[in-house]
Formats: sequence, C-alpha cells, structure tokens
Amino acid sequence: MPTQSPAHPPSPEPPGYEPCRLCPRLCDAQRESGAAGFCGQGNRLRLALASLHFGEEPPLVGNRGSGTIFFSGCTLRCAFCQNFQISQQGLGREVGTAEFAAICLALQTAGAANINLVTGTQFIPGIIAGIAAARAAGLALPVLWNGSGYERVEMVAALRGTIDVWLPDLKTLDRETARRYFAAPDYPEVATAAILAMAEAHPLEYDAAGLLRRGVILRHLVLPGQLADSRAVLTWFSRHLAGRALPSIMTQYTPIAALAGRPAPKDALGQAEYEDLVALIDELGLGEGFYQELVPGSDWLPDFCRPNPFSSELARTVWHHAGGFVAKQG
Ligand code: SF4
Repeated sequence: MPTQSPAHPPSPEPPGYEPCRLCPRLCDAQRESGAAGFCGQGNRLRLALASLHFGEEPPLVGNRGSGTIFFSGCTLRCAFCQNFQISQQGLGREVGTAEFAAICLALQTAGAANINLVTGTQFIPGIIAGIAAARAAGLALPVLWNGSGYERVEMVAALRGTIDVWLPDLKTLDRETARRYFAAPDYPEVATAAILAMAEAHPLEYDAAGLLRRGVILRHLVLPGQLADSRAVLTWFSRHLAGRALPSIMTQYTPIAALAGRPAPKDALGQAEYEDLVALIDELGLGEGFYQELVPGSDWLPDFCRPNPFSSELARTVWHHAGGFVAKQG
C-alpha cells in the first residue's frame, strides 16, 4: 500500500457526488443517479484535453511546459469564458480512473513540470481518486488546482493531500458584478475565504530549478471598464497575501462572439486603461509577480474542436477528447 509523503498530510473524509455539495452552489443534485446540477456534469470524470502548455506563469512552465488537463463543465460559467466550448457547451469525453491516471503519467513522460488541473471543482471525488492512482503508479510531479476561486473551504481542506499549488482567479469583490456575470452574488466572500485557506495551508516553496513546488498564485483577469473592481481586488491582495503568494494580473480579456447575448464587457482592454492599470500596480507595490502585456486581437482564443486548440508555440497536445493519446508515451 503506498504511503503518503510528509508533503501530503492526511485529508478529511473524501467528498462524494450525491447529494452534490462540492461547490458553493450546493445543488444537492443526485449525481450518482443521473441527475445534474448547475455544472451539468455526472459522476464520471469528463475531459477535453491534456497538453503541455507554455503560456502559464514562468515558475509553472520552466522550459518543460505545464501539464494541463482541461475538464468539461464549470461551477461558475462566466459570460466571458474563453473555454466556453468545454465549460458551457459540454465538449469532452468521459474517462475512468485508470485512463485519467494514464493521462497524468503520459504528461509526466512528455516532460511536464507539473499536472495542472483546469476547472475541476465539479469532479473533486474523481480527481482525488485519479491523482491517488497516478501517484501509486509513479506520478512524482506537483499537482496544481487552476480554478475560478469559487470553492468551499471544506473542499480546499479535502484537496489538501492531493493539491500542491493553487492557482485561483479572484475575479471581483463586487457582489453586483458577480451576480451579473456569473449569477453568484456570494462570490466575493466565498472566494476570499477559500483563497486565504489555500495560502494558509501552502506557503511558497520552489525546487532547485526555480519551479513552484507549493504555494498560491493569485490570478486576476482585468475586466475592461471596471478598473475600480481591479483596484479592490489588488488592494485586498496587498493587505492579505503580499509576500505569501504571487499576484498574476491578466489583461487578455476578449469578448466571446458565441456568448454575445450574455452580459459582459463588449470590448477588450484599451491602451489608456492599460496604462491606468500599470499605474495602479505601481501605486500598490504588489512585489514579485506576473504582469501581462496588452494582448491585441483574438487569434489566440482556443478552439477545442481542433487536435491542438492553441497555437503550436503555446501548447503540444498529449491527449484529446476526440482522438485519445496523440503523443508518444515513451
Ligand atoms: S459541483 Fe455541480 S452539481 Fe455539485 S453543487 Fe456544484 S454546481 Fe451543483
């Protein structure tokens, strides 16, 4: 029987799918019996893509790439989601625990610096089992939780033995913005409580190559026309997390034509607002972190129907929902 390393202390009793209370929506959906809640997912892991990704923050990538695994469905479903094909339109394929573990090991064999779980809250039980199976079979990489920040503190505790690095996106501290864009007015208090729990459990720690082994990177996607929101989020970071976590400020907001009927900013960030943002970052003195340059155009938006949804410089596919494994597993 495999033993847990000191880096992975015992977790509370693993959560289940029924009645489903995995996320703050608390749907109570009977997912073992075929019912679905807000996220629209059943009781089996459903994935769209596993790939080496070179566009994440530098200590997650190095020269090896981050081993991203994109899950289907989402508990937040933002009106501006660049991954809407998988988060809201259901693209993906179900996999069992053994196939999920094989995908993790294929990413490790391909050279990944870590396993980067993108939007996995709706599958917490399957992920805990899948990562345990992968570790038992030889997975030795740090595991990242790359999500919306809309998590229950109870689930952060349940994932403590599974996750090494947290990558939440604190989107807003304004209840009205959260209600309008993702029907979750409780988002500000829920997300900040979860993020503080993540930072409490995982102080920053790097390996000899400068890759992040444990810790929190707090992302913030700047919403055009709402710089006051960004000021509130970054001020919160400076008061609660500066020195304990790394900020990552993203300027890549792009209106999504397929979601045009939903409330969301209609334009990308402009040069003048970007300059105001840079001045705000200087004013707040956030310290070491990552600050994206202005990204013009929408050519980089992923298309998960393609074998490689991203540009070839940005990602290399290892497994795809339509074709299975596409890279050598060694
Ligand atoms: S994971 Fe899905 S079904 Fe479960 S509470 Fe959240 S939205 Fe509802």
